[in-house]
Amino acid sequence: MSSSGDRDLQGKLDDEQYRVTQEAGTEPAFTGKYVDHKEDGTYRCVCCDQELFSSEHKYDSGSGWPSFWLPLAGDAVRTNTDSSHGMVRSEVVCKNCDAHLGHVFEDGPQPTGLRYCINSASLDFKDSDQ
Ligand SMILES: [Zn+2]
Repeated sequence: MSSSGDRDLQGKLDDEQYRVTQEAGTEPAFTGKYVDHKEDGTYRCVCCDQELFSSEHKYDSGSGWPSFWLPLAGDAVRTNTDSSHGMVRSEVVCKNCDAHLGHVFEDGPQPTGLRYCINSASLDFKDSDQ
């Protein structure tokens, strides 16, 4: 087997999804398909289908990106220190496949005080009926 995982993902993802998840890109604010999305269900990793966030924890932060105050499970995502762009931020990645998801900030609502600011391009929504 000589095919790389990258090649498989390139076939599965569109250009924006690939840029965000594999090259730590950020979609422009207010352009993502899940910014104002309010259906009940689960947001999964677009790369590996791992369940990452629930609509129960989604809220309207006004930032222009889907925002959550809690991941679906504590071990669904991992954070890395990201010092790119002259800022020190906490990068959020999929624990399962290391896909870049977004960043977490400490200005979210209680009880966590966290704001997971996630790119729509890194998520795949499944409604709760499925
Ligand atoms: Zn993943």
